[in-house]
Amino acid sequence: MKAAVLYSAVPSTGSASQKPSYADARPLVVQELARPEPRAGELGVAITYSSLCHSDLSVVDGSRVRPLPMALGHEAVGRVVSVGGGVSDVSVGDHVVLVFVPSCGDCRACRSGRPALCHQAAEVNGSGDLLHGEALLRTPAGERINHHLGVSAFADYAVVARESVVVIDDDVPDTVAAMFGCAVLTGMGAVLNTAAVTAGQSVAVFGLGAVGLSAVMAASLAEAGSVIAIDPNSGKHQLALDCGATAVGTPEDAAGLIAEAAGDGVDVAVEAVGSAGVIAACLGHVTRGGAVVSVGLPHPSAELTVPALQFAGAGKRLLGSYMGDAVPGRDIPLYLGYWREGRLPVELLHTDTRPLTEINEGLDALASGQVVRRLFTA
Ligand SMILES: [Zn+2]
Ligand SMILES: [Zn+2]
Repeated sequence: MKAAVLYSAVPSTGSASQKPSYADARPLVVQELARPEPRAGELGVAITYSSLCHSDLSVVDGSRVRPLPMALGHEAVGRVVSVGGGVSDVSVGDHVVLVFVPSCGDCRACRSGRPALCHQAAEVNGSGDLLHGEALLRTPAGERINHHLGVSAFADYAVVARESVVVIDDDVPDTVAAMFGCAVLTGMGAVLNTAAVTAGQSVAVFGLGAVGLSAVMAASLAEAGSVIAIDPNSGKHQLALDCGATAVGTPEDAAGLIAEAAGDGVDVAVEAVGSAGVIAACLGHVTRGGAVVSVGLPHPSAELTVPALQFAGAGKRLLGSYMGDAVPGRDIPLYLGYWREGRLPVELLHTDTRPLTEINEGLDALASGQVVRRLFTA
């Protein structure tokens, strides 16, 4: 099998002019690995498309620390080619979206209906193992390669836990389905599950990557009265309007646009940048009783300093949202239903498709904001 492996992170200097060129540094090595077979509780999946997400970039630049070497990629679609022992509800040939939290179904979070926060999944995702056993990937020389979030989908094949897939209808195009496992699940869930936006509310979304744009689509779908989409890259603004935003602008425009649409603040602000400073700004942009949903991943060293009185004094809420508080087996079919009805234009997120050998060039394109979702095929 073929996979893209990260052996060492390429730290970002933080300054835009000194961003590393991944096309030159080539941190991801596309190589042949020994092909593992699924164990009990696992599936072999032929990956058709995987897409590059900001969380992959965060592992590459070292802001998300993971055990290396690791085969990256966590947003993908494929077909089941082999089924391990004890799996009776998935068959060879099934069309599957891969999900990056393999929920155990039995821990405290799973039992309370919050599988996105599964304790066992967090542990094995952190160690680079799979839910039903230790890492299977090996170089031809026998060196262990860690799995990324139980998926490792920048590859032509993956062995994953049964809990890492959701079976979908055969006829959904792979280029659409590929984006449902991370971007769509996370962005839509932030709005529909975490914030539970209702018709007529005002919503602002900060950061217009695939997650932020999915949040814009969800707010529009929920019939929010106004959907204000903010990103410093004005090249993203037309796309946000196409996704259902009612107003777009840069961070400098945000206060004016919010005042115009929602008076003293929006009901819900979604932070999809991953910046402590933007989370703090969002708290200033919500009205009394409003909620900020923190969905972007800040650097682990980032700390938040905000006026403490706004919580008890103005009823504001700060809500963390991991994977959109999703229940994947419920939400992916639900969201695919919206897409089928023409109410969720997920195609807009798909910028282009490239061969897996161009994955490092893809990192540059994502880091510079040239692409929303670039799909890869091995
Ligand atoms: Zn992702
Ligand atoms: Zn669990």
